[in-house]
Amino acid sequence: MIEFKSVDKFYGHNHILKSINLSIKHNEKVVIIGPSGSGKSTVLRCINRLEKIESGDILFNGQSILKQKQSQLSTEIGMVFQKFHLFPHLTVVQNVMEAPTWVKKMNKVQARELAASLLEKVGMGDKLNSYPSQLSGGQQQRVAIARSLAMQPKLMLFDEPTSALDPELVGEVLQVIKQLAVEGMSMALVTHEMGFAREVADRVIFMDKGQIIETGSPEEVLSNPKEERTRLFLSRIL
Ligand code: ATP
Ligand code: MG
Repeated sequence: MIEFKSVDKFYGHNHILKSINLSIKHNEKVVIIGPSGSGKSTVLRCINRLEKIESGDILFNGQSILKQKQSQLSTEIGMVFQKFHLFPHLTVVQNVMEAPTWVKKMNKVQARELAASLLEKVGMGDKLNSYPSQLSGGQQQRVAIARSLAMQPKLMLFDEPTSALDPELVGEVLQVIKQLAVEGMSMALVTHEMGFAREVADRVIFMDKGQIIETGSPEEVLSNPKEERTRLFLSRIL
């Protein structure tokens, strides 16, 4: 579904991604871990072309993303960030209806139905007419997930979706992501929640300093890492 072929990315003279090769298959759940500044977010941002790459190529369903329209990519690839970025002046249901109405030109009645069913799915069915400011962080993040799903993406990217949340709100958001995983959504997820990675990931990728150091099953990478750098990282966070 996604394939990085020797991708390099620079910011000025800083070599941020160094010859990255990785693939995400249909239905696969890939978790990316690694120290701060290692390039995890940049990898995700390259996938939906929020960042340009200096060399190499990224294929989405066999075709270079460089040749695909940004608008097409943003309907097929959903992204959820650490911060929720909901529209503050719109209600919960309006937030979720926004993209299908404006981007997909869906009529309002259908868009509202779709939004309501997605909000139900993320456990927010009773808050359709609330405003983001009236919700907890965990609730806002669940709305943000529903908003992404409203475009019916084929791949979801999550960049530390629970890092901005109070600890007691992390579980409810992970639960929603896990449900999506169980339903077969393809996803790439950056997280420091190792328990979750173990439970959900088909594959874990450890990055350091712009390189993929190690990749394998959660058992391989998290329990029996081959590389010293992976061991060191895990010993610091566990
Ligand atoms: P974190 O865990 O802190 O989110 P990360 O692994 O997601 O870190 P990235 O955000 O991908 O790391 O950043 C990788 C490197 O690129 C870092 O060294 C960062 O300073 C640099 N970087 C990121 N964005 C920019 C930018 N807009 N301009 C210049 N350098 C940047
Ligand atoms: Mg990051």
